[in-house]
Amino acid sequence: MNPALQEELRKLRRSLQGFLEAEKGFGVEAVMGKGVGREKNVMHSVVSLDRNLEPLRQEVSVCIKCPLHQGRRQTVFGEGSPSAKLMFVGEAPGSEEDQQGRPFVGQAGKLLTKIIEAIGLKREDVYIANIIKCRPPGNRAPLPEEIHSCEPYLVRQIEFIRPRLICALGKYAAMVLVRKEESISLLRGNFYDYQGIPVMPTFHPAYLLRNPSAKRLVWEDMKKLKTTLEKLETSP
Ligand code: SF4
Repeated sequence: MNPALQEELRKLRRSLQGFLEAEKGFGVEAVMGKGVGREKNVMHSVVSLDRNLEPLRQEVSVCIKCPLHQGRRQTVFGEGSPSAKLMFVGEAPGSEEDQQGRPFVGQAGKLLTKIIEAIGLKREDVYIANIIKCRPPGNRAPLPEEIHSCEPYLVRQIEFIRPRLICALGKYAAMVLVRKEESISLLRGNFYDYQGIPVMPTFHPAYLLRNPSAKRLVWEDMKKLKTTLEKLETSP
């Protein structure tokens, strides 16, 4: 079989496996059955996987699990490719995101788009989400109880997408995904494990807008991220 197609099928199987683990009772036998139609079945199921992010999006859109629902215009679920190999996780929506219902669309978002393009990808190639789906008032930092309430949605997004790599943007995303108390300055640029997925923390783009000199460090992190991603893609 063509190596590129083999790689694509392997990626699809990996995504599907994550989905099946997350959705117990989802026709495992039918999907993973042996025979000539196996790849076709896997393809078909991955298309279903894409659709299956929608129920979660709907669930989040009416969530009232924490007080942040009171001040939101709308929830900001996340966007991008549901089979992305790279996922960016930020902190929480700001004013612009709250208005548009999309993550990273303000000034910090524009910078994130440039960062993504700098490593040779397009915004639609990756998946972008936040740990918190509703805007905290005045863009304040999320409270531990808000993170606790909202984190399960992010966990389920990651389970569906099963990216090869995750980039945690800023200290709160790093706290949730890396589970370490060290500062983002110490954590950045290193890889940690999240459920078998390598996670690299780096500075949040909003921090870079306030501290442009840190862009150089983020560029170093992104080069490392890109190299690791390429290695992972060619590994068996
Ligand atoms: S921040 Fe998360 S947990 Fe809180 S209301 Fe919004 S979606 Fe629900």
